[in-house]
Amino acid sequence: MPDFRIGQGFDIHRLIAGRPCVIGGVTIPSDVGCDGHSDADPLLHAIIDALLGACALGDIGEHFPDTDPRWKDADSGKLLTHVAGLVYDRGWRVVNIDATVIAERPKLAAHKRNIAVRIAELLKIDPSKVSVKAKTHEKLDAVGRSEAVAVHCVVLMSRGE
Ligand code: MG
Repeated sequence: MPDFRIGQGFDIHRLIAGRPCVIGGVTIPSDVGCDGHSDADPLLHAIIDALLGACALGDIGEHFPDTDPRWKDADSGKLLTHVAGLVYDRGWRVVNIDATVIAERPKLAAHKRNIAVRIAELLKIDPSKVSVKAKTHEKLDAVGRSEAVAVHCVVLMSRGE
């Protein structure tokens, strides 16, 4: 029997004017983008934390401190491939990823498929293993006021036969 591990990730980033809006490694046309030290991609950050969590390898802040100038405006795709290398080197493989992006804006429905394909490409897995869902926050709280984008994500990993 293979060994299975589940990992959970969450992230939230403030939306501000004048930043590219990068979600799941895809730049979405938008008049606002996520603020943060790196490119501030909340979906890739949540996936990174889920992968690290499944394999008990710490969290994104330990691996990529936001005080480190190396990660200023960093491409989160590179952070994700680095973390994928860490878990793959330990024999873990992704069974599936299921993520929910919560945003009042930008609207993501038209981009969900591209985002899932991009995540699969970064992780070198089949796109059928990646689910990206999008919903609003029903105008409630900061996310509902379009002040932020939040992401919840779970990943299942397996190792061995
Ligand atoms: Mg983040």
